[in-house]
Amino acid sequence: MSTSIKALTIDLKEDGWEKSRGFIKREIPKPTLNESADPADSASVIVKVHYAGLCGSDRGIWNRAAFSDMFKESLASEGKSLRVLGHEFVGEVVEAGSKVEALYGISVGNPVSGDSHVTCGKCFQCRMGEAEVCQDQSILGISIDGIYAEYVKVPAKNLWVVDYERVRPEICAMYDPFGNAVHALSKTDVRGARVAVFGCGQIGLFSVLLARHFGAAKVIGIDVNPDNLKMAEALGAHETILVKPEKKEHDYDVDQAVIDQVMKLTYGKGVDVSMEMAGFNSSVNNCIAATRFGGDVILFGIKDGDFVVPNFSRMVVKGITMHNVIGRQIFKTWQIAQRVLSDETNGVQDKMWNVIMKGGQETIIPLSEFSAELLEERMRAYPKLVFDIQK
Ligand SMILES: [Zn+2]
Ligand SMILES: [Zn+2]
Repeated sequence: MSTSIKALTIDLKEDGWEKSRGFIKREIPKPTLNESADPADSASVIVKVHYAGLCGSDRGIWNRAAFSDMFKESLASEGKSLRVLGHEFVGEVVEAGSKVEALYGISVGNPVSGDSHVTCGKCFQCRMGEAEVCQDQSILGISIDGIYAEYVKVPAKNLWVVDYERVRPEICAMYDPFGNAVHALSKTDVRGARVAVFGCGQIGLFSVLLARHFGAAKVIGIDVNPDNLKMAEALGAHETILVKPEKKEHDYDVDQAVIDQVMKLTYGKGVDVSMEMAGFNSSVNNCIAATRFGGDVILFGIKDGDFVVPNFSRMVVKGITMHNVIGRQIFKTWQIAQRVLSDETNGVQDKMWNVIMKGGQETIIPLSEFSAELLEERMRAYPKLVFDIQK
């Protein structure tokens, strides 16, 4: 008899993709390691999940607005219909395959977070140390089972051992999205630069915090939500710009009032670095228009769909360098994130906890209290939420 555990899921047969929304709490069998049935289990672990973060992409899944093909195709190839959701986690290793200690130095009792991209290790990019662009990767909670469950099975090669004494566990659950911002900021040198962050949701806010920490001379936070801009200021933005609805011919057109303000704040030059963290077509065009000749545009927020970039030749004429960011550099990004988070003197971890997480007030949701209504209310109110999985 297998014991059952609680998990947040979607079942394409029971719930349907188009017909349902949100995450559905279910009892599922507790995962086990069985090396004789599956040799890959020798390099996997069972993690008792303590905390799990709600990513921007999870919000997209909640509204069935992202990754539909990846869910459908991956489940079809696995011959099943239920997917455990979620990919940002921290917990404790409670069982380890026979090769885990020897291969990865990880053992039972270790507190661990881990990268959500399970890479192949064999392709050209993986072999060249560029696993973030592995051509044969799976993503936890999308194309393989994720971590919104009391116990989960994860490949040990994805794990990053954490220390709850240095970084509080709720923040450890955010290594993965914080790492997105670390990775984005590593694309160009922001020391002494003027940096505009378009979109101050969770990863945009992390980017504001990090741009300031990494030595940007002026950080400008830009968003449609005044509450997010207040947080951006508290995290170190020197200036903020509220995006107000403008009369435009097309949705994708630039927000001219925003560009005018950026130009004013940069003495007519434009910013050295624009970071696209919102995902709107207009936001991409805002980034290009707000960046100085010879500057850098870093794209991260974009999800599915086609984009229109009028007068694309501006990219060439202005000599703009475009960077596209996916995932994290494994594990270089994790090492930098750990150093930034675990240095008590720099205030970064405290700002994440006090400003973005409101000191845990209403932003930590016990799995036992999960309901669609509660989560939707909290998603409207806060940029970042974390589940307390064992409570
Ligand atoms: Zn994520
Ligand atoms: Zn690969």
